[in-house]
Amino acid sequence: MEKEITGTTGLTGLLGRPVAHSISPLMHNESFHLLGLDYRYLCFDVGTKELETVVEGLRAMGARGWNLTMPNKNLMCELADELSPASEISGAVNTVVNDHGKLIGYTTDGIGYMRSAKEAGFDLIGKTMTLLGAGGAATAILVQAALDGLKEIRVFNIKDKFYERLEEIAEKLNQRTSCKVSVHPLPDDDALRCSISSSDILTNATGVGMAPNIDACIISDASFLRPDLIVSDVIYNPRETKLIKMARKLGCPTFNGLYMLLYQGAASFELWTGEKMPVDIIKEKYFK
Ligand code: NAD
Repeated sequence: MEKEITGTTGLTGLLGRPVAHSISPLMHNESFHLLGLDYRYLCFDVGTKELETVVEGLRAMGARGWNLTMPNKNLMCELADELSPASEISGAVNTVVNDHGKLIGYTTDGIGYMRSAKEAGFDLIGKTMTLLGAGGAATAILVQAALDGLKEIRVFNIKDKFYERLEEIAEKLNQRTSCKVSVHPLPDDDALRCSISSSDILTNATGVGMAPNIDACIISDASFLRPDLIVSDVIYNPRETKLIKMARKLGCPTFNGLYMLLYQGAASFELWTGEKMPVDIIKEKYFK
Protein backbone atom coordinates (compact mmCIF):
# COMPACT_ATOMS: atom_id res chain seq x y z
CA MET A 1 0.00 0.00 0.00
CA GLU A 2 1.39 3.41 -1.02
CA LYS A 3 2.19 5.68 1.91
CA GLU A 4 1.71 9.41 1.42
CA ILE A 5 4.67 11.60 2.29
CA THR A 6 3.77 12.89 5.75
CA GLY A 7 5.36 14.71 8.65
CA THR A 8 6.96 11.45 9.78
CA THR A 9 8.37 10.12 6.49
CA GLY A 10 11.96 8.93 6.94
CA LEU A 11 14.59 10.15 4.49
CA THR A 12 17.15 7.85 2.88
CA GLY A 13 19.21 8.45 -0.24
CA LEU A 14 22.41 8.38 -2.22
CA LEU A 15 25.29 10.88 -2.06
CA GLY A 16 27.66 10.79 -5.02
CA ARG A 17 28.71 12.32 -8.32
CA PRO A 18 27.30 11.38 -10.76
CA VAL A 19 24.08 9.86 -9.33
CA ALA A 20 21.39 10.62 -11.90
CA HIS A 21 21.81 7.18 -13.57
CA SER A 22 21.42 5.22 -10.32
CA ILE A 23 18.98 2.33 -10.04
CA SER A 24 18.93 2.66 -6.23
CA PRO A 25 15.93 5.06 -5.97
CA LEU A 26 13.84 2.64 -8.03
CA MET A 27 14.65 -0.45 -5.97
CA HIS A 28 14.36 1.25 -2.57
CA ASN A 29 11.23 3.32 -3.23
CA GLU A 30 9.47 0.34 -4.82
CA SER A 31 10.41 -1.79 -1.80
CA PHE A 32 9.15 0.87 0.67
CA HIS A 33 5.94 1.00 -1.35
CA LEU A 34 5.50 -2.79 -1.49
CA LEU A 35 6.03 -3.14 2.26
CA GLY A 36 4.05 -0.01 3.19
CA LEU A 37 7.06 1.56 4.91
CA ASP A 38 7.12 5.29 5.63
CA TYR A 39 10.40 6.16 3.88
CA ARG A 40 11.60 7.74 0.64
CA TYR A 41 14.97 7.44 -1.16
CA LEU A 42 16.40 10.38 -3.13
CA CYS A 43 19.62 10.99 -5.07
CA PHE A 44 21.83 13.97 -4.22
CA ASP A 45 24.66 15.16 -6.45
CA VAL A 46 27.38 15.59 -3.80
CA GLY A 47 31.16 15.52 -4.25
CA THR A 48 33.90 15.22 -1.61
CA LYS A 49 34.09 19.00 -1.20
CA GLU A 50 30.50 19.21 0.02
CA LEU A 51 30.29 15.84 1.76
CA GLU A 52 31.02 16.90 5.34
CA THR A 53 28.48 19.75 5.27
CA VAL A 54 25.83 17.50 3.72
CA VAL A 55 26.47 14.69 6.22
CA GLU A 56 26.19 17.06 9.19
CA GLY A 57 22.94 18.41 7.71
CA LEU A 58 21.49 14.93 7.29
CA ARG A 59 22.51 14.02 10.83
CA ALA A 60 20.92 17.18 12.25
CA MET A 61 17.77 16.65 10.17
CA GLY A 62 17.38 13.12 11.45
CA ALA A 63 17.64 11.40 8.05
CA ARG A 64 17.44 7.63 8.63
CA GLY A 65 20.50 6.82 6.54
CA TRP A 66 22.15 7.04 3.16
CA ASN A 67 24.32 5.30 0.60
CA LEU A 68 27.63 6.61 -0.67
CA THR A 69 29.02 6.09 -4.11
CA MET A 70 31.96 7.54 -6.04
CA PRO A 71 33.77 9.66 -4.91
CA ASN A 72 32.59 9.58 -1.28
CA LYS A 73 33.09 6.06 0.07
CA ASN A 74 36.52 6.63 1.62
CA LEU A 75 35.88 10.10 3.08
CA MET A 76 32.67 8.89 4.73
CA CYS A 77 34.83 6.56 6.83
CA GLU A 78 36.38 9.59 8.52
CA LEU A 79 33.00 11.23 9.12
CA ALA A 80 31.25 8.24 10.73
CA ASP A 81 31.14 7.82 14.53
CA GLU A 82 31.45 4.04 14.38
CA LEU A 83 32.42 1.56 11.66
CA SER A 84 31.50 -2.05 10.95
CA PRO A 85 34.54 -4.39 10.93
CA ALA A 86 34.41 -4.56 7.11
CA SER A 87 34.34 -0.76 6.79
CA GLU A 88 37.14 -0.36 9.27
CA ILE A 89 39.39 -2.82 7.43
CA SER A 90 38.55 -1.66 3.90
CA GLY A 91 38.48 2.07 4.70
CA ALA A 92 35.19 2.42 2.83
CA VAL A 93 31.57 3.10 3.74
CA ASN A 94 28.70 2.70 1.29
CA THR A 95 25.89 2.74 3.86
CA VAL A 96 25.29 4.97 6.88
CA VAL A 97 22.69 4.35 9.55
CA ASN A 98 21.79 7.43 11.58
CA ASP A 99 21.05 6.01 15.01
CA HIS A 100 19.58 9.03 16.83
CA GLY A 101 22.47 11.25 15.76
CA LYS A 102 25.18 8.57 15.88
CA LEU A 103 26.42 7.74 12.38
CA ILE A 104 27.36 4.09 11.89
CA GLY A 105 29.20 3.19 8.69
CA TYR A 106 28.87 -0.14 6.86
CA THR A 107 30.01 -1.52 3.54
CA THR A 108 27.48 -3.78 1.87
CA ASP A 109 29.09 -4.38 -1.57
CA GLY A 110 30.97 -7.43 -0.30
CA ILE A 111 27.82 -8.72 1.43
CA GLY A 112 26.06 -8.30 -1.92
CA TYR A 113 28.73 -10.28 -3.74
CA MET A 114 28.73 -13.14 -1.21
CA ARG A 115 24.93 -13.39 -1.31
CA SER A 116 24.91 -13.31 -5.12
CA ALA A 117 27.41 -16.21 -5.15
CA LYS A 118 25.32 -18.18 -2.66
CA GLU A 119 22.08 -17.61 -4.54
CA ALA A 120 23.79 -18.67 -7.77
CA GLY A 121 24.41 -21.98 -5.96
CA PHE A 122 28.04 -21.54 -4.87
CA ASP A 123 29.11 -22.00 -1.27
CA LEU A 124 32.49 -20.26 -1.08
CA ILE A 125 33.17 -20.82 2.61
CA GLY A 126 36.42 -22.76 3.06
CA LYS A 127 37.28 -22.28 -0.64
CA THR A 128 40.20 -20.64 -2.46
CA MET A 129 39.68 -17.55 -4.65
CA THR A 130 41.84 -15.80 -7.22
CA LEU A 131 40.65 -12.20 -7.15
CA LEU A 132 41.56 -9.73 -9.88
CA GLY A 133 41.45 -6.07 -8.82
CA ALA A 134 42.24 -3.79 -5.90
CA GLY A 135 39.76 -0.93 -6.28
CA GLY A 136 36.47 -0.37 -4.47
CA ALA A 137 34.66 -3.49 -5.67
CA ALA A 138 37.64 -5.80 -5.23
CA THR A 139 38.43 -4.53 -1.73
CA ALA A 140 34.83 -4.96 -0.62
CA ILE A 141 34.79 -8.55 -1.91
CA LEU A 142 38.20 -9.36 -0.44
CA VAL A 143 37.30 -8.12 3.04
CA GLN A 144 33.85 -9.71 3.22
CA ALA A 145 35.03 -13.01 1.75
CA ALA A 146 37.87 -13.19 4.28
CA LEU A 147 35.55 -12.29 7.19
CA ASP A 148 32.99 -14.85 6.00
CA GLY A 149 35.55 -17.68 6.04
CA LEU A 150 37.16 -18.32 2.67
CA LYS A 151 40.29 -20.39 3.16
CA GLU A 152 42.61 -18.45 0.89
CA ILE A 153 42.38 -15.39 -1.38
CA ARG A 154 45.14 -14.47 -3.84
CA VAL A 155 44.70 -10.95 -5.15
CA PHE A 156 46.27 -9.79 -8.41
CA ASN A 157 46.46 -6.19 -9.59
CA ILE A 158 48.59 -3.93 -11.71
CA LYS A 159 50.99 -1.79 -9.69
CA ASP A 160 48.85 1.33 -9.75
CA LYS A 161 47.61 3.61 -6.95
CA PHE A 162 45.50 0.79 -5.48
CA TYR A 163 48.34 -1.69 -4.99
CA GLU A 164 49.98 -0.31 -1.84
CA ARG A 165 46.64 0.05 -0.05
CA LEU A 166 45.85 -3.53 -1.03
CA GLU A 167 48.98 -4.76 0.75
CA GLU A 168 47.92 -2.96 3.94
CA ILE A 169 44.43 -4.49 3.80
CA ALA A 170 45.88 -7.96 3.18
CA GLU A 171 48.09 -7.58 6.26
CA LYS A 172 45.10 -6.61 8.43
CA LEU A 173 43.09 -9.59 7.15
CA ASN A 174 45.95 -11.98 7.82
CA GLN A 175 46.14 -10.70 11.39
CA ARG A 176 42.41 -10.64 12.09
CA THR A 177 40.91 -13.56 10.15
CA SER A 178 41.83 -17.17 9.50
CA CYS A 179 41.84 -16.53 5.74
CA LYS A 180 45.26 -16.54 4.08
CA VAL A 181 45.51 -13.45 1.88
CA SER A 182 48.36 -12.76 -0.54
CA VAL A 183 48.96 -9.97 -3.04
CA HIS A 184 50.58 -10.37 -6.46
CA PRO A 185 51.48 -7.89 -9.20
CA LEU A 186 50.10 -8.05 -12.74
CA PRO A 187 51.08 -8.79 -15.41
CA ASP A 188 52.55 -12.12 -14.39
CA ASP A 189 50.87 -14.82 -16.45
CA ASP A 190 52.80 -17.68 -14.82
CA ALA A 191 51.84 -16.70 -11.26
CA LEU A 192 48.26 -16.04 -12.31
CA ARG A 193 47.97 -19.35 -14.17
CA CYS A 194 49.39 -21.20 -11.17
CA SER A 195 46.99 -19.46 -8.75
CA ILE A 196 43.92 -20.10 -10.90
CA SER A 197 44.85 -23.76 -11.34
CA SER A 198 44.54 -24.33 -7.57
CA SER A 199 41.53 -22.03 -7.00
CA ASP A 200 37.83 -22.90 -6.77
CA ILE A 201 36.75 -19.51 -8.08
CA LEU A 202 38.15 -16.75 -10.28
CA THR A 203 36.61 -13.31 -9.74
CA ASN A 204 37.18 -10.30 -11.95
CA ALA A 205 36.66 -7.15 -9.87
CA THR A 206 38.51 -4.80 -12.21
CA GLY A 207 36.66 -2.62 -14.69
CA VAL A 208 38.35 -4.43 -17.60
CA GLY A 209 35.64 -5.61 -20.00
CA MET A 210 33.06 -3.05 -18.93
CA ALA A 211 31.11 -1.17 -21.63
CA PRO A 212 32.14 0.46 -23.90
CA ASN A 213 35.38 -1.63 -23.88
CA ILE A 214 33.56 -4.93 -24.18
CA ASP A 215 36.32 -6.61 -26.22
CA ALA A 216 38.81 -6.26 -23.34
CA CYS A 217 39.49 -9.21 -21.03
CA ILE A 218 41.66 -9.39 -17.92
CA ILE A 219 43.03 -12.82 -18.93
CA SER A 220 44.55 -13.34 -22.36
CA ASP A 221 42.88 -16.64 -23.30
CA ALA A 222 40.81 -19.62 -22.16
CA SER A 223 43.89 -21.73 -21.33
CA PHE A 224 43.82 -20.06 -17.85
CA LEU A 225 40.45 -21.71 -17.15
CA ARG A 226 39.16 -25.24 -16.62
CA PRO A 227 35.55 -26.48 -16.75
CA ASP A 228 35.09 -26.93 -12.98
CA LEU A 229 36.36 -23.42 -12.14
CA ILE A 230 33.64 -20.99 -11.01
CA VAL A 231 34.12 -17.72 -12.91
CA SER A 232 32.47 -14.51 -11.77
CA ASP A 233 32.64 -10.92 -12.95
CA VAL A 234 31.42 -7.92 -10.94
CA ILE A 235 30.64 -6.13 -14.18
CA TYR A 236 26.93 -6.06 -15.11
CA ASN A 237 27.19 -3.89 -18.23
CA PRO A 238 27.42 -5.91 -20.44
CA ARG A 239 25.63 -8.79 -18.68
CA GLU A 240 28.09 -11.17 -20.36
CA THR A 241 31.67 -9.87 -20.43
CA LYS A 242 34.28 -11.40 -22.69
CA LEU A 243 35.58 -13.29 -19.63
CA ILE A 244 32.15 -14.76 -18.84
CA LYS A 245 31.59 -15.68 -22.50
CA MET A 246 34.96 -17.44 -22.64
CA ALA A 247 34.22 -19.32 -19.40
CA ARG A 248 30.74 -20.38 -20.47
CA LYS A 249 32.08 -21.68 -23.77
CA LEU A 250 34.40 -23.94 -21.79
CA GLY A 251 31.52 -25.11 -19.56
CA CYS A 252 32.51 -23.22 -16.39
CA PRO A 253 29.76 -22.23 -13.93
CA THR A 254 29.51 -18.42 -13.99
CA PHE A 255 27.72 -15.40 -12.51
CA ASN A 256 27.88 -11.68 -13.24
CA GLY A 257 27.66 -8.56 -11.04
CA LEU A 258 23.96 -7.86 -11.46
CA TYR A 259 22.75 -9.42 -8.24
CA MET A 260 25.74 -8.07 -6.29
CA LEU A 261 24.21 -4.68 -7.08
CA LEU A 262 20.76 -5.82 -5.96
CA TYR A 263 21.91 -7.48 -2.75
CA GLN A 264 24.16 -4.62 -1.62
CA GLY A 265 21.01 -2.50 -1.81
CA ALA A 266 18.98 -5.15 0.00
CA ALA A 267 21.54 -5.16 2.83
CA SER A 268 21.34 -1.34 3.15
CA PHE A 269 17.54 -1.53 3.11
CA GLU A 270 17.57 -4.02 5.97
CA LEU A 271 19.98 -1.88 8.01
CA TRP A 272 17.66 1.14 7.71
CA THR A 273 14.27 -0.53 8.09
CA GLY A 274 14.88 -3.84 9.84
CA GLU A 275 12.83 -5.42 7.01
CA LYS A 276 13.89 -7.70 4.16
CA MET A 277 13.77 -6.13 0.70
CA PRO A 278 11.26 -8.06 -1.47
CA VAL A 279 14.09 -9.03 -3.82
CA ASP A 280 12.12 -11.41 -6.05
CA ILE A 281 9.76 -8.64 -7.12
CA ILE A 282 12.60 -6.12 -7.46
CA LYS A 283 14.56 -8.60 -9.62
CA GLU A 284 11.60 -9.05 -11.96
CA LYS A 285 10.99 -5.34 -12.26
CA TYR A 286 14.49 -3.83 -12.50
CA PHE A 287 17.17 -6.56 -12.81
CA LYS A 288 16.37 -8.33 -16.07
P1 NAD B 1 37.96 1.31 -9.08
O1 NAD B 1 38.32 2.45 -9.96
O2 NAD B 1 37.90 1.52 -7.62
O3 NAD B 1 38.98 0.09 -9.38
C1 NAD B 1 39.31 -0.28 -10.70
C2 NAD B 1 40.14 -1.54 -10.67
O4 NAD B 1 40.42 -1.94 -12.01
C3 NAD B 1 41.51 -1.38 -10.00
O5 NAD B 1 41.84 -2.59 -9.38
C4 NAD B 1 42.44 -1.13 -11.17
O6 NAD B 1 43.77 -1.46 -10.87
C5 NAD B 1 41.84 -2.07 -12.19
N1 NAD B 1 42.17 -1.70 -13.56
C6 NAD B 1 41.79 -0.58 -14.20
N2 NAD B 1 42.28 -0.59 -15.46
C7 NAD B 1 42.99 -1.74 -15.59
C8 NAD B 1 43.73 -2.34 -16.66
N3 NAD B 1 43.82 -1.76 -17.83
N4 NAD B 1 44.31 -3.54 -16.43
C9 NAD B 1 44.21 -4.15 -15.24
N5 NAD B 1 43.51 -3.63 -14.19
C10 NAD B 1 42.93 -2.45 -14.38
O7 NAD B 1 36.57 0.79 -9.62
P2 NAD B 1 35.51 -0.14 -8.85
O8 NAD B 1 34.51 0.72 -8.20
O9 NAD B 1 36.23 -1.16 -8.05
O10 NAD B 1 34.77 -0.83 -10.10
C11 NAD B 1 35.38 -1.87 -10.84
C12 NAD B 1 34.30 -2.57 -11.66
O11 NAD B 1 33.36 -3.14 -10.77
C13 NAD B 1 33.49 -1.62 -12.56
O12 NAD B 1 33.23 -2.29 -13.76
C14 NAD B 1 32.21 -1.40 -11.80
O13 NAD B 1 31.11 -1.15 -12.66
C15 NAD B 1 32.05 -2.74 -11.12
N6 NAD B 1 31.28 -2.67 -9.86
C16 NAD B 1 30.23 -3.50 -9.73
C17 NAD B 1 29.48 -3.48 -8.57
C18 NAD B 1 28.29 -4.39 -8.45
O14 NAD B 1 27.48 -4.19 -7.54
N7 NAD B 1 28.16 -5.39 -9.30
C19 NAD B 1 29.84 -2.63 -7.52
C20 NAD B 1 30.95 -1.80 -7.68
C21 NAD B 1 31.67 -1.83 -8.87
